[in-house]
Amino acid sequence: VSFKTLGLDSSLVQALDGLGYSKPTPIQAQAIPHLLEGKDLCGIAQTGTGKTAAFALPSIHYLATNPQARPQRGCRMLILSPTRELASQIARACNDYTRHLRMSVNAVFGGVPIGRQMRMLDRGTDILVATPGRLLDLIDQRALVLKDVEVFVLDEADQMLDLGFIHALRRIDKLLPKNRQTLFFSATMPKTIQELSSQFLSDPVTVSV
Ligand code: AMP
Repeated sequence: VSFKTLGLDSSLVQALDGLGYSKPTPIQAQAIPHLLEGKDLCGIAQTGTGKTAAFALPSIHYLATNPQARPQRGCRMLILSPTRELASQIARACNDYTRHLRMSVNAVFGGVPIGRQMRMLDRGTDILVATPGRLLDLIDQRALVLKDVEVFVLDEADQMLDLGFIHALRRIDKLLPKNRQTLFFSATMPKTIQELSSQFLSDPVTVSV
């Protein structure tokens, strides 16, 4: 299979060509068709398997082919990541993939001043990558609402729990629209993660690599 035969938008395929991605990795080949159909997904995959593109490409395809105004103090796609390093990496990848599209990608995380992040959110963004603590700070400061989220990605769920983000995740889940698409990724699937995934996902497809 190729990215083109998977049915991805030609601007995306062009960006992937430019990045030298010649064909989908196994997780991409397995996950992308289900995600393009709008299914929820539980992905069991480690870093290095190409999981970022597996969740980002079909989501960007959806945003590009279902255009909406950029939501003020909101976003259309929310990606939660446990650390600032990973959040920046994901935002960089999304920027690479959207090179030929008019779409904004931003990341918010702790350890840097919040003011600039608040001003960015005032204008709104299509894709927001966030760590849970800073996301809730921004919500508490009325700089962000989650009512416009159409696609929600929880990345590295096992690491989120190890870092003590369980209460933050439960709070965020309550603030998200019920009719969104949800993608859940974890390197391991112990019982606690299975329970967490069943809270977030609705009739999901599971892929494992
Ligand atoms: P990840 O597992 O998302 O951290 O991705 C690991 C690395 O693989 C990143 O540097 C990606 O840019 C790269 N990558 C992802 N998908 C592909 C692909 N289909 N072809 C070549 N490289 C890829």
